[in-house]
Amino acid sequence: MEMAVIGAGFTGLTAAYELAKRGHRVEVFEKNNFTGGLAGGVRRVLDDYPKEWDWDLDGFYRHLFVSDTEIINLIKEVGLGKRLFFRPAKTSLIAREGIFPFDTAMAIITFPGLTWFGKLRAGLVIFWLRYLANWRHLEQFPAHRQARLYFGEEVYHKLWRPLLKKKFKSFYQEVNLAWLWARFRKRSRKLGYLEGSFQVLIDRLGREISQRGGKIRTNCSVSGIKAVPKGLKIECGLKREFVFDKVVATVAPSAFLRICPELPADYQKKLGNLRSLGASSLILVLRRPLMVDGTYWLNVNRQDIPFLSLVEQTNFQDKSKYGGCSIVYIGNYFDEDSSEQNKDADELVQEYLPFLKQINPEFKRTWILRSWLFSRHFAQPVFSLGYSKLIPPIKTPLKDLYYASMCQVYPWDRGMNYAVEMGKRVAELMLESCS
Ligand SMILES: Cc1cc2nc3c(=O)[nH]c(=O)nc-3n(C[C@H](O)[C@H](O)[C@H](O)COP(=O)(O)OP(=O)(O)OC[C@H]3O[C@@H](n4cnc5c(N)ncnc54)[C@H](O)[C@@H]3O)c2cc1C
Repeated sequence: MEMAVIGAGFTGLTAAYELAKRGHRVEVFEKNNFTGGLAGGVRRVLDDYPKEWDWDLDGFYRHLFVSDTEIINLIKEVGLGKRLFFRPAKTSLIAREGIFPFDTAMAIITFPGLTWFGKLRAGLVIFWLRYLANWRHLEQFPAHRQARLYFGEEVYHKLWRPLLKKKFKSFYQEVNLAWLWARFRKRSRKLGYLEGSFQVLIDRLGREISQRGGKIRTNCSVSGIKAVPKGLKIECGLKREFVFDKVVATVAPSAFLRICPELPADYQKKLGNLRSLGASSLILVLRRPLMVDGTYWLNVNRQDIPFLSLVEQTNFQDKSKYGGCSIVYIGNYFDEDSSEQNKDADELVQEYLPFLKQINPEFKRTWILRSWLFSRHFAQPVFSLGYSKLIPPIKTPLKDLYYASMCQVYPWDRGMNYAVEMGKRVAELMLESCS
C-alpha cells in the first residue's frame, strides 16, 4: 500500500521504518531541510558548524534513561547497539545557599537548603510516588496543590513551585499530579547517550527507510490533507499533490488543524483544547568548563534566575569530541504567544551573564567562542486535569487518516522513547486495517 508520514521527527521516522519493514511504499514529508524534528542535531541546522568536531551535537540537550526500552531496542535493531552507553551523570541544584549535589540520598541528606523534617518528608513522598503503580486517580489533582499538601510548605516553595512555574509558565496551576508521578517513575541515575549523538540514529533510520524503497522529502511542508475518491490527497506547496492509501500526521495539534480542515468538529475541538509550550536552548561553546564541580544537569529553582536548567554536555561526554571545547546548554520554556521567544542569542547571553558569573565567579564573556539559539514551538504538552479524557484518538474519524504526537504519549512526559513507541503503535494501527 502507499503510505504517507507527515513529519520526520522520531515518531514519523519510526512509523515510516515500521511500515517500510512490512513491505509498504512509504513517503515521509518534512517541512525542514533536515530530519529529526526536536531531536535534530546542530550540524543539520547550521552552516557554521565546527568541522573539526568528531561528534554532532543535539540542538536540545538530551539523554536516555535506563527504562527507555523502546528506543534502546530500536537502537539495537538498526545495528547501533555498540554505540549506546550509560553512565552516571551528576545532577545539582542551585539555591540561595549555593550549588549542591542533588542526585543521591546522601546528597539530599546533606543539602543545607531544607530542614531535616523537610528532607525526611520529601524522601517518603518521592518513594511513595515512585513506587505507586496506578496513576489514574492522580490526574484529577493539580500537581501544585497536591505537592504543597504532600511535601509541606518548605519543600513545595523551595523545590516544586519554582520548577512548576519555570517549566509551565502561565499553565503551572493546571498541570496534573500524574505528570509529577511520571517524572519520578522513569528517571534513572545512569543516563544513556549514543556515540556521535542521536543524529546517528536519525540518519540510520533514514537510511533503513530508503533501503526499503521509502522516500524522505525534506523542505516539503504539507499544507493540506483532503479525502479524494482514491484515498487521501496531500498538498505540498504550489501544484504538488500526492495521493496515498493511508496517512499519518505527527505534527503539532495546531498544525494538524490547519492542514486538515475536513476533520469533524468533535475531533477539531479535541485538538484545539490541547495546550503546549515552546522551548529554547542557548548553546554556548566555551574555552573553559563552566561547572567545575562536574555537574552535568543543574536545576535552577531560584526565581530570580531567568532560565530553568543549565546542562554542561562536556561534564557528560568527553570534550575531545567537540574539539576540546566545553559545551553548555541553557534551557528555558516559553508561552507560545509570549515575546520571550523574540530574543536572539546575543540578547540572551547579555541577560544570562550575571547568573553565569554566580555559577562560576571566574566566568568571563571572552570564554564564549560561539553561541547559537535553538527555539521551537510545540516542545512540551501541558497535561491538565483529567487529561486522559482529552486525548484525541490516534485513528481520526476521517477514513485512513491517523494522528500521532507527543500529546498522546501520556501519562509519560514527551521523550524520544515515547516517540518511538508512538511511531510503532500508529504503524500497527495502520497495518491492522490492511489485513
Ligand atoms: C528542550 C527539550 C529537551 C528534551 N530532552 C530530551 C531528552 O533528554 N531525552 C528524550 O528522550 N527526549 C527529550 N526531549 C523530547 C524529544 O525531543 C521529543 O519527545 C521527540 O523528539 C518528539 O518527536 P516527534 O516526532 O513526536 O515530534 P517532532 O520532533 O516535533 O517532529 C515533528 C516533525 O513534523 C515536522 N512538521 C511540522 N509541520 C509540518 C508540515 N506542515 N509538513 C511537514 N512536516 C511538518 C516538524 O518539522 C518536525 O520535524 C526533549 C525535548 C525538548 C524540547
